[in-house]
Amino acid sequence: MVPSTTPATSSQAPPIPSIIPDLPVPPGRQALDSALHQLGRAADLLGLDDGLRAMLATPRRSLMVAVPVRREDGSVRVVRGYRVQHNVSRGPAKGGIRFHPATDLNEVTALAMWMTWKCALVNLPYGGAKGGVAVDPAALTARELERLTRRYVNEILPLIGPEQDIPAPDVGTDEQTMAWIMDTYSVKAGYSVPGIVTGKPPVLGGSLGLAGATALGVQIATLAALDGRDPEGVTVAVQGFGKVGALTARSLAAAGCRIVAVSDATGAVTDPSGLDVGALLEHHAEAGGVRGYPRADALSHDELLELDVDVLVPAALEGAIHAGNASRIRAGLVVEGANGPTTPEADRVLSDAGITVVPDILANAGGVIVSYLEWVQNTQACSWSSGEVERRLRELMRDAFGEVREAAAQRGISLRDAAHMIGVGRVAEAHRVRGLYP
Ligand code: GLU
Repeated sequence: MVPSTTPATSSQAPPIPSIIPDLPVPPGRQALDSALHQLGRAADLLGLDDGLRAMLATPRRSLMVAVPVRREDGSVRVVRGYRVQHNVSRGPAKGGIRFHPATDLNEVTALAMWMTWKCALVNLPYGGAKGGVAVDPAALTARELERLTRRYVNEILPLIGPEQDIPAPDVGTDEQTMAWIMDTYSVKAGYSVPGIVTGKPPVLGGSLGLAGATALGVQIATLAALDGRDPEGVTVAVQGFGKVGALTARSLAAAGCRIVAVSDATGAVTDPSGLDVGALLEHHAEAGGVRGYPRADALSHDELLELDVDVLVPAALEGAIHAGNASRIRAGLVVEGANGPTTPEADRVLSDAGITVVPDILANAGGVIVSYLEWVQNTQACSWSSGEVERRLRELMRDAFGEVREAAAQRGISLRDAAHMIGVGRVAEAHRVRGLYP
């Protein structure tokens, strides 16, 4: 036997790759802090007691899972996945699934909380949830993405169901992802369960494209906030040219607005006389981003946010408008297509500068409204025309906008505080009426 004078191989062995997270993970902390801050303000306005505040500040269920995925080369990579049900007092949990490398439990919790208030604000019989997988979908092949999605669904099966928790698309996921989710769940059930997920392709019972629905909702909210002003010539900058940003730009252009700048992860482009959004969409599809679009000038991401425009639509990720750049925002109106794009510090700066902010839970609610309409059709095995879906979407958006505007005017508060007060108030009332078990 070889004497053990040579160092043990363990000290030379490569470390076992582990995905055990080092909690608390900072990136999503800022989103969660924002969400808790907004809840605190609404709770103050509503005079909620400490017990109820604690219940509303705490997610009902949080599930953290490992998602092993076999790569094309045969190796296995393990990524972290999450599903958080923030609140289910008003109905099944509802919310999208995000595939993004920086997502973490804090971010998913914040996004789930925003879903709760959003659903309550627009009067949908839902609680709030969100899911996430810490992965860059662009770095995976379609087959890897399919395997990842199916395994993630398998791991969160204990939580989801058409009467329990209904996922939908979010950043990094789309109709195809939803089709895989529907198929995985249905194969396990032994029969088709279209109501397990919303944002499906129409052939599987999907309604108006969810991204299109969010964008139409942002357009409706923007026109409502313009308060009768002729949209013709209203200048707009859109941060984010993904599913929400690109279709919002198209939708606002169709309403007569002048889209003077857009950006995505690859860069930002501007044309003060108005971008041709259709041509830009084509360039984006071919080049994989807005950068290099020949019929416009390039500008930096920061410059886009700070343009002197009538309307700024942040439609990318959380925290885009923060303490460091808020004082340079020159738009008169900010319409939040993304969830949580403005930090509380920035909110204060914008408010002091007289800038109106249409908050995320109102501005981007069109997505979950159409999700709800899709789910109602699925669970009742019926199908409405797209005109009918759009009519209902417009009605729910109009009612919610009117309520928020009225509450803000009556109490002399911001649209964000008013929206949260209404959303949080409805959830608090549901808790009060249901009572505490046991
Ligand atoms: N991901 C969208 C949102 O943040 C839609 C969620 C849903 O339809 O459930 O509102």
